[in-house]
Amino acid sequence: MIRKFFSYYKPHKRLFMIDFFSAIIVAALELVFPIAVQRFVDDLLKSGNWDLIVTVSILLLAVYLLSTFLQYVVSYLGHKLGINIETDMREELFTHVQRQSFGFFDNTKTGHIMSRITNDLFDIGELAHHGPEDAFIAVMTFTGAFWIMFFINPTLALIALIMVPLLIALVTYCNIAMNRAWRNMYGKIADVNARVEDAVSGVRVVQSFTNEEFEINRFQKDNGLFRKAKLVAYRVMAWTHSSIYMMTRLLTLLVLVVGSYLTINGDLTHGELISFVLYTNVLIKPIDKISALLELYPKGMAGFKRFQDLIEEQPDIQDKPDAQPVNELKGHVQFQDVDFSYDRYKSVLKHINFEVEPGETVAFVGPSGAGKTTICSLIPRFYDVDKGSIMIDKMDVSDMTKHSLRSQIGIVQQDVFLFTGTVRENIAYGKKDATEAEIRDAAKRAHLDEVIASLPQGYDTQIGERGLKLSGGQKQRLAIARVFLKNPPILILDEATSALDTQTERIIQKSLNDLAENRTTLVIAHRLATIRDADRVIVVTNEGIVEQGTYDELIEADGVFAKLHKIQFSLNGS
Ligand code: ADP
Ligand code: MG
Repeated sequence: MIRKFFSYYKPHKRLFMIDFFSAIIVAALELVFPIAVQRFVDDLLKSGNWDLIVTVSILLLAVYLLSTFLQYVVSYLGHKLGINIETDMREELFTHVQRQSFGFFDNTKTGHIMSRITNDLFDIGELAHHGPEDAFIAVMTFTGAFWIMFFINPTLALIALIMVPLLIALVTYCNIAMNRAWRNMYGKIADVNARVEDAVSGVRVVQSFTNEEFEINRFQKDNGLFRKAKLVAYRVMAWTHSSIYMMTRLLTLLVLVVGSYLTINGDLTHGELISFVLYTNVLIKPIDKISALLELYPKGMAGFKRFQDLIEEQPDIQDKPDAQPVNELKGHVQFQDVDFSYDRYKSVLKHINFEVEPGETVAFVGPSGAGKTTICSLIPRFYDVDKGSIMIDKMDVSDMTKHSLRSQIGIVQQDVFLFTGTVRENIAYGKKDATEAEIRDAAKRAHLDEVIASLPQGYDTQIGERGLKLSGGQKQRLAIARVFLKNPPILILDEATSALDTQTERIIQKSLNDLAENRTTLVIAHRLATIRDADRVIVVTNEGIVEQGTYDELIEADGVFAKLHKIQFSLNGS
């Protein structure tokens, strides 16, 4: 997994190198600096040569400037590296998710995908930046500082070292407490966010029940809990900072006292004492970083593992290596003894056989849950059959490329999904390179043009989130215009008008009849009146296909269809 993780550095090798070496130089300068101070005090000061002191000072200034610049480079480029890797991963994940099959989305919560794409990748990005660099630098400065201290005075170095485990323990303990506090705080802010989302997107329901006060109270409660959690987090943080501050000052003081004693005894020069105190600080600094890494590493790696699990999930529906692209299908559709189930334990379709001629309109009717929608989902290969085969123009759909197959099929469903944007953008979703004339023609055929003419900005009107500003009938027409533009030889209408009132349904039906012209059309209809003109009717029940024939033939046959018919029309009549 580590190797996999590092493979994401590859495209940014140069950035990593620059960042890494700059960091090493910064660390090295930090290690050299106290020695320079020592020399300054012990040699330069004693010599009393002012000119030399000035020259050396200027030299030191130059080194400071260099170090400052490099620190800027490390901070900026390091984060750039992190965000680059994060962006790459996010793009890879999004692309991957977009290509998953329907089965994947049936079983995956949207919220989980969202948190993979945001939170997890944020942690991974942080680790990618701080991980290797900080680990290396921390170890380098720590051992370097200790080694030099030992060289100056072993006794004093060991005294300092004894304090180190204490410090590490303290810092680690604080980090764990802080981590817990932050996690709790994140949970609380998620609750607040969920409340806001619910209350805002459901505001119409809230106000129609006049439940504003109720919502405000609920919100206040969650908001208060969040405040409390965040205060705890800040208290832990303040406590951490002050106790670490105290420990480091204690250590410095200890070194100062013991060092003074040694200096008085003549075991240590004044310069050495100063540089020793400075080294103590160099020694302490990386402890903080190491402890932060100890926390960052498991978090980032856990995120990376979840990321990796998602990336490794292969879509169930894939092109065969020798899949053929199909263009301009005629639209002959045939099911040959098809069995299908969403999960192994419950069969949905068994021994389904039927054939639709090019240009024919066939209606599927039957009770809800019989599998009509499922039959239609198999044609564009949203799912693969368990047994049998589905042929279009005598070719198995699994031998075609997914992309070309789906480009030949248009679908209009009961609930229309529209995207935030303008009317024009939503129609053009059916054909991304459509000209203005084509878009207008499609709108006209869908009888959408009158609607558009009445909108304030015409084609440029924003339709709101999921088309919220349009009525059900208008949305359905937009969906039909989209398919007109796509102009596929095969059309699936899955209860396209079931959600509409009879009046609107009748009007939309005209557009649908136009759309069905010269295309192979499979209609699923709830209201039998809408399929009066179908060439053929296929009745599907839980037992499979039980009847087929023309509308009149089936009435004549006095079977399942005739019964359905009787129920609907006696209901409507009364
Ligand atoms: P119809 O369109 O005739 O009302 P469907 O094809 O939607 O029926 O559903 C047929 C059966 O398959 C039902 O029992 C339904 O519960 C089940 N089903 C439909 N979609 C899924 C799915 N995505 N995952 C699992 N089961 C499903
Ligand atoms: Mg259905």
